[in-house]
Amino acid sequence: MKSIKPSRPKTHFVCQECGFQGVRWSGRCPECTHWNTLREEVDRTAIPSSRKGLAGSTPEPLPIDSIAQAEEFRLQSGLEELNRVLGGGVVPGSVILIGGDPGIGKTTLLLQAVASFGLGKQVGLYASGEESPQQIKMRADRLGIPMPQCPCVGDHVVGRPVSSG
Ligand SMILES: [Zn+2]
Repeated sequence: MKSIKPSRPKTHFVCQECGFQGVRWSGRCPECTHWNTLREEVDRTAIPSSRKGLAGSTPEPLPIDSIAQAEEFRLQSGLEELNRVLGGGVVPGSVILIGGDPGIGKTTLLLQAVASFGLGKQVGLYASGEESPQQIKMRADRLGIPMPQCPCVGDHVVGRPVSSG
């Protein structure tokens, strides 16, 4: 018995700045060179309109070693060890949880990472849920972290933690 499963609709990526269209996501538009402007859109002409179309578009299983490796874009933090721990850099759109005991250096590491993003073409933002911008600045000054392009927002924007325990 043959099962008919709807396949995932085909999509393409459209630059919100210049209208460039490509089949692969990239962190930077190859046309206008803006960052993070490519948005995934469903390819209307690829949506099957009949059951026959659905069955016909079911992909054949492939041996995993025959699948071409897609180029994966990662943002480089400027901190070599952080990039290495993250598998080569930050995947755009991903969320990374950094945990550790108080005083272990989470804030220091993240201030350094955000500052290093600001040195390149990327722009970092340090958003804190528990410190004011003044406290963030004091800490950055004390650590000697240059923050030429590092905007920060403090607790008044992010909101205080609901519970501390
Ligand atoms: Zn573009």
